[in-house]
This record gives sequence, C-alpha cells and structure tokens, in this order.
Amino acid sequence: MPDAGKADLHMHTTASDGNASPKRLLDHVEQRTDLDVIAITDHDTMDGALEAKRIHEAGDYRFDLILGQEVTSTAGHILGLFIEKPVPKERSAEETIRLIHKQGGLAIAAHPMLVMRYTDPDMLTADGVGADVLLGEQFDGVEIVNGSPTLGNENARARLLNRTILFRAETGGSDAHILDAIGKGYTLFPGRTAADLRRAVEQKTTEAVSTKYRIRELLRYGRFFMKMKFRETGKRMFALFGQGRRKERARASASADPALRAPRKKAAR
Ligand SMILES: [Zn+2]
Ligand SMILES: [Zn+2]
Repeated sequence: MPDAGKADLHMHTTASDGNASPKRLLDHVEQRTDLDVIAITDHDTMDGALEAKRIHEAGDYRFDLILGQEVTSTAGHILGLFIEKPVPKERSAEETIRLIHKQGGLAIAAHPMLVMRYTDPDMLTADGVGADVLLGEQFDGVEIVNGSPTLGNENARARLLNRTILFRAETGGSDAHILDAIGKGYTLFPGRTAADLRRAVEQKTTEAVSTKYRIRELLRYGRFFMKMKFRETGKRMFALFGQGRRKERARASASADPALRAPRKKAAR
C-alpha cells in the first residue's frame, strides 16, 4: 500500500497489566515509532485511555489517539475501538458487540484463535472468541496479526479463516504490555488520521502487518511475563529465544566454512 498510514490498534498501560503509564506510552510512541495512530485498549477499563486522552489533548503529539478497551466477554476478548465509556465485562459476545456499536464504536475480535495454555482461577478467560463466535457475530474486523511473540500459529489460522470464509476487515496490533513491543504488529490504511483508519476498517481496505522481535526484546518481554505470573507465556518466549540462538549458531557454523569466510585482514605491523 503506497503512502499508507500506520496504526497499532492494541496495547496496554498500567491501568491494566501493561508496565508503562499512559504518559510514558504516549512519549514512547512520539519519540521512538513512526505510528500515525494508536489505540489504548486496557483490559476491562478505560482509565488508561481516558488519562492518555487528557495528556494527548494538552500536548503536541503528531499521532492520533483512539480510545478503546479490550473487553472480556464470556466468549473471549473483544476490542472496542472509538468508544467513550467502558463496556461491562462478562457479557456474551453478541451483547458486548451490541454495547460497543451502541456508542458508535467498532468491535474487533482480538487474537480470535488463541486458547491459553495456563489457567488462573482469578482470571476470566483470556482466550479469543474462536471460530464459531467469529462466524456467528457481527464483528467489524478481525485481528489477524496479534504482535505477541508466541502467536504465530494462531495468527495464521485467523488469517486463513478470514480469507476463506469471513472476509471482515483485517487488523494488526501489538498487544504490547511493554514499550519495546509497541508497533510489533500494526495496520496499514489509506490516509493518516484516526478517521481515515476508521473509514478503512468500514471499507475493508486495511492491511495487517507483523514485525519480528529482536532477541533482546524477546528476553525482556519473557521476563515481564514471568514476573506477571503469565509463566506459560514467558516460558514460550524463552523457548523462542532458544530457537533464535540456535539459528544464530547455525549461521555462525556455516560461515566457519573457509569457502564462506570473509578474507581475514592482515595483522597490522
Ligand atoms: Zn487479549
Ligand atoms: Zn491485549
């Protein structure tokens, strides 16, 4: 998409389980990314998004901010974008989508094919809504790129389902819980502003893109999840880190082949 705008539509602050305050997050996006639009989507609260709105309005940021929430429905996580008031949790997917639409928002199925491996009795489901609900409900879009490092397979399944049966607008978001993760999944759209992005979702002209993590960033994220008691996610990230290391070693041993090795510089005399 030539000259497209870039939006990260899924991220968390300290208002839920992210590790950066709204202010730090906004400053990071301003100084360290080329995003044109972001959405703050904390779990079952808009406190972070609303605080960010006040700071954003008082400041001189070059990017647009969308207020959102990641709503825990009884079927799984649903992103409400362009909303102004929090949407209650623990309602059916159908009711959650209705409440998002009622306030003029867009409902996006977050990581729809994710089934979490861990279960925390204090936590309601952190899963996606799954194929049946995706097929049956009126979502405005499907997050086919969720930037969590461990979600490759789930993303591929969501993309396949959307391109063969669903044909909804495709979105990408980082699902960032740490600043390093912001932008590791984004949505391209014609235009630059939040209004352009909204139009693109409605007209299904968005394109979802994923970005790779550096090993250093993966480690930092893994440590964050271990600390947050998302131990299974943390372990999966460390496993990814191991894979990265093995690939690096394989590359190093390939270049140990004298035919591939760069000619060594002569020692200075
Ligand atoms: Zn989620
Ligand atoms: Zn999330």
